[in-house]
Amino acid sequence: MSVILETKKLQKYFKTPKGFLHAVEDVSLQIEQGETLGIVGESGCGKSTLGRTILHLLEPTGGQVFFEGKDITNVRGRELKELRRKMQIIFQDPFSSLNPRMTVGEIIGEPLRIFRVTRSREEYSRRISELMDLVGLAQRNINSYPHEFDGGRRQRIGIARALCLGPNFIVCDEPVSALDVSIQAQILNLLQELQAELGLTLMFITHDLSVVRHISQHICVMYLGQLVEKAPAKELFTNSLHPYTKALLSAIPIPSIHAKRERIIIKGELSSPINPGPGCRFASRCPHATDLCRETTPELRELGPNHFVACHLAGSAG
Ligand code: SF4
Repeated sequence: MSVILETKKLQKYFKTPKGFLHAVEDVSLQIEQGETLGIVGESGCGKSTLGRTILHLLEPTGGQVFFEGKDITNVRGRELKELRRKMQIIFQDPFSSLNPRMTVGEIIGEPLRIFRVTRSREEYSRRISELMDLVGLAQRNINSYPHEFDGGRRQRIGIARALCLGPNFIVCDEPVSALDVSIQAQILNLLQELQAELGLTLMFITHDLSVVRHISQHICVMYLGQLVEKAPAKELFTNSLHPYTKALLSAIPIPSIHAKRERIIIKGELSSPINPGPGCRFASRCPHATDLCRETTPELRELGPNHFVACHLAGSAG
């Protein structure tokens, strides 16, 4: 498989009255054509900012983004517009991301109008019908408004809109977090079916490791703007090496009353992402932190095939 998207030391900082908030710090990753890459981390770790910076919804502060082998870090104007057709986003909250004054048909068809893709009224209507079928929305709903639907069907509208221009890369930003568990499974299944049918590449952002377990080929774990571990999904679940990943995994419920797993509670205060100094950003909460951890930033090191960890102690005996 070929790499469709790559970031090299991507950075996104925000200016605040107290200094620069380092939301994304030197993130380097690759996503292969047709795969799903899971991006996992707690709220505020920069995972959504990473997705939006990759899509050019936010200007990067530093680093590079490559899409289909081309450096797209500084694209503007017509080139950026073309890129928007190929790279799309599905948002977390389907309700607030849908215009309440537009019908389902108008919402799904809006990108067709903006990009002037269809040549006739018939072609426009046909494309909207196709998209509704694709995401499992009944045609009779074409003139309904978003408030008439439950969360799952609202998210289907958001997915149809994201697919409208025929993208091949989609950032899914917590697309099931606001939904009930039973509906979550339906939307995850739908995304997998669409991926297989349309050959999509997905970057799936979530705070919940268990959500990406079965749909991702690779997983990146983020902590305070940095990647701390990246590995094939199975390897991450069976052989995690970073203390933060281990704590996240320990919090996943086991579906058996007999199985036991010791929950690792993360104590200590989150360090500030504003003007952070050198050292491991997890040090204030890590039970294994040493002086080295507090003074020197750990680099991502490959400690197994395609398994990278940013921790001074990972891989050392004991
Ligand atoms: Fe903990 Fe040190 Fe590893 Fe950071 S580098 S995760 S503080 S052991």
